[in-house]
Amino acid sequence: MSENKKTGVIGFPVDHSVSPTIHNHWIDENQIDASCYEKINVDPEQFEEEVGRLKENGTYGLNVTVPLKELAFSFAEELTDVSKQTGAVNTLTFKEGKVYGDNTDVIGFQRSLDKKTIEENITNKKCLVLGAGGAARAVISALNNLNGEVHICNRTYEKAKQIQQDIQIKSEVIDQKDLGAAIYEMGFIVNTTSLGLGNTENTMVDFSQVSSQAFVYDLIYNPKLTKFLSEAKEKNMGYQNGIKMLIEQAAESFRTWHNVLPKNSNVLMNKLEGL
Ligand code: NAP
Repeated sequence: MSENKKTGVIGFPVDHSVSPTIHNHWIDENQIDASCYEKINVDPEQFEEEVGRLKENGTYGLNVTVPLKELAFSFAEELTDVSKQTGAVNTLTFKEGKVYGDNTDVIGFQRSLDKKTIEENITNKKCLVLGAGGAARAVISALNNLNGEVHICNRTYEKAKQIQQDIQIKSEVIDQKDLGAAIYEMGFIVNTTSLGLGNTENTMVDFSQVSSQAFVYDLIYNPKLTKFLSEAKEKNMGYQNGIKMLIEQAAESFRTWHNVLPKNSNVLMNKLEGL
């Protein structure tokens, strides 16, 4: 039984976050003795002071979103192997006077995938990760856990190379100008860039060169159908957006703090769709 734990999400800005809807739904559903999960803006320049103050004020757990995941990584005193591998922390826990850091985006991405997609499109198949930011690190780690053959392509080539060096898993980096020649062989294509937010175009992939057998994933969940996914839909390909990942990463943080692994449900999905 938890004792009125204070939890929330930090980011800059954090106003767009739907995490409070998810966590507060589960707090009610599971009758957890916890305060309302809150959104807290934390200026990256003041990270140590502001998060230190939250800790002193009795906060138990914090989710961390853009652009604070690397700062949270440096702030944590004890890190899980997953967060060490990705170099990013999206879940901070303050207990027994210590700061613990984890990255639940990895398990969140893994759990968001259907068994069929894993078997037919990922395991022992070529997987293309578009992007080389914080989210890409989590996705690369997850695809490697699922025995996918990881290929990385990013606007800034050096950042993709840097990830390859940092994460230390078998992977290939593709220069954007060579993507057209390589893309037909990809069984799984995942967009981890922010292209597509606010309905912007994602021009990284020419879908006329993509195999219709490939599965296309976009981490963006708002809009529900990005232009990237609508191209896959038009070609009758399998596709999914980032909403399940968002819920699954939240579920794992919730379990860390409240010892309950909550469930996704139609009620929760309807609440999120209504936002
Ligand atoms: P990030 O660290 O800022 O990385 C952004 C990435 O997007 C970089 O690879 C960057 O390339 C690329 N990019 C940005 N503008 C571009 C442009 N105009 N053309 C080509 N590439 C561009 O962000 P992040 O934390 O990885 O998040 C990325 C996305 O994933 C966001 O939309 C976020 O909301 C989403 N996300 C979703 C979930 C979920 O649960 N569904 C979880 C985490 C993140 P450069 O390196 O060249 O700058």
